[in-house]
Amino acid sequence: MNDLERLARRLEGNLSRLLGRRIVIPVAEAYARRCGCRGHALYVRGLTREDVEVLADVLAEELKGLGEGEPAAELDRDLVRALRVGRWCERHRPGRHPALMPLR
Ligand SMILES: [Zn+2]
Repeated sequence: MNDLERLARRLEGNLSRLLGRRIVIPVAEAYARRCGCRGHALYVRGLTREDVEVLADVLAEELKGLGEGEPAAELDRDLVRALRVGRWCERHRPGRHPALMPLR
């Protein structure tokens, strides 16, 4: 198990315990996009926008282990599709792009 997988398993455990229901991170990966965005992503099942609002500080702290950059939750309506930490291009900067919620 590498560091990224270890962090994903730990976060699954912590979120599941804090929320009292099963949160699953099926995919953890590094990414680099043509637009200039790059970093690490944890795809997540079972996490809502409201959970992220309540746990923003906890998540920001946990996601420091993913490396340098600004943490954000990628939303699909009221569900969280992924947690991301990295460098952002101008267009996708969290807080500017409507689907990317800054975590801090
Ligand atoms: Zn981008």
